[in-house]
Amino acid sequence: MSFSRIAAKNPIVEMDGDEMTRIIWALVKERLVLPFVDIRLEAYDLHLPNRDRTDDKITLDAAEAIKKYGVGVKCATITPDAARVKEYNLKKPWPSPNGTIRAILDGTVFRKPIITIGRHAYGDVYRDVEMKIPGPGKVEMTYTPADGGPGQTVLVHDFKGEGVVKGEHNTESSIRSFARACIQFALAEKEDLWFATKDTISKTYHAAFKNVFREEVDARKADFEKAGITYQYMLIDDAVARVMRSSGGFLWALRNYDGDVMSDMLASGYGSLGLMTSVLVSPDGKFEYEAAHGTVQRHFYQHLKGEPTSTNSTATIFAWTGALAKRGELDGTPELVQFAKRLEESGIETIETGTVTKDLAAISVPPLRDHATTQGFIEAIAERLRVKMGVGAGV
Ligand code: NAP
Ligand code: MG
Repeated sequence: MSFSRIAAKNPIVEMDGDEMTRIIWALVKERLVLPFVDIRLEAYDLHLPNRDRTDDKITLDAAEAIKKYGVGVKCATITPDAARVKEYNLKKPWPSPNGTIRAILDGTVFRKPIITIGRHAYGDVYRDVEMKIPGPGKVEMTYTPADGGPGQTVLVHDFKGEGVVKGEHNTESSIRSFARACIQFALAEKEDLWFATKDTISKTYHAAFKNVFREEVDARKADFEKAGITYQYMLIDDAVARVMRSSGGFLWALRNYDGDVMSDMLASGYGSLGLMTSVLVSPDGKFEYEAAHGTVQRHFYQHLKGEPTSTNSTATIFAWTGALAKRGELDGTPELVQFAKRLEESGIETIETGTVTKDLAAISVPPLRDHATTQGFIEAIAERLRVKMGVGAGV
């Protein structure tokens, strides 16, 4: 029986990355996607040496391409620190590609293990300015209105000795689009919406987030009632305590830093980092999918030494299926959406029938003694997928 690949109407922006996830990336693409789908990939290689060579222009180009084509899929990338600058002999420590792409798309990041996390993707500590204070002296914060009106100055601190200081900001419009994106997602998924900050302490900054959420939720009151979902605001520490005891099923909207930290806590608390994908959604409906974990450096160094690895590719696979399904949804090609679903099922069934990587073998109940290699896991999924798609073993 001959098999003709499923044709996608429009391209997906493909961003390759670094280390172990770069190895997984090629395997997933070559073994699980391209044999079955005929799609044009607009490729941007965000491999660290390539970012260095292009003075990081490649990252900006990738973000612009996501704006143009609407759907992207991204491999994990190294955010270089001093050690990486040395290791890769870089011109400078280039900024985090994710930070760059998020800032250009002004998006909200959704991460979905059991509890969906809606992470604000603009501002706060990721866009702060910082200063080391060498000795005694005053630090003040000044606002100068563009129209020449009266300004405002507050004293940050009157230093008696050395110290540090930082200035964070956010914008009303970014907070509002974050709130709207979360409300939209909660309504679409029919999940209760939780939001939490520390507005008892941060009476202006955090309170602004709280107030904007309240306004936006009130504006959609009828839709909340129709969907049968609720909105709850609480203090961030209260929310953390309640999340630990909950069995999930809600969307937890979090400010940028809280979302960064809490999604890693949830991912490893509910299974493995290798199971969580992340979707960046911009207010004008552009989508970027990726695994939530990093480049799995430790496994990569094993791989370089020629040792077998057992890295979980599930999140990377689900990044691809998320992008393919979204492409199909936007283009009106249900076959592509169906393929993505079959690939996800193949992955889940492979795990559920006991072919798992080391991270999952260790937490299985009862624990599994055997685990698959990085490649073995992907091949096991490919075999199931071929059966589902009615393809002979030749592919
Ligand atoms: P990491 O890549 O998330 O890995 C940390 C540890 O988590 C691994 O050593 C491994 O634990 C476990 N792990 C993560 N993903 C796994 C998977 N798919 N399968 C099995 N185990 C998995 O974090 P990192 O090693 O601290 O960071 C490495 C690089 O990633 C850094 O340069 C950082 O800049 C970058 N990073 C990129 C992104 C992104 O592009 N989205 C996000 C975060 C970090 P064991 O070693 O115990 O097996
Ligand atoms: Mg993080």
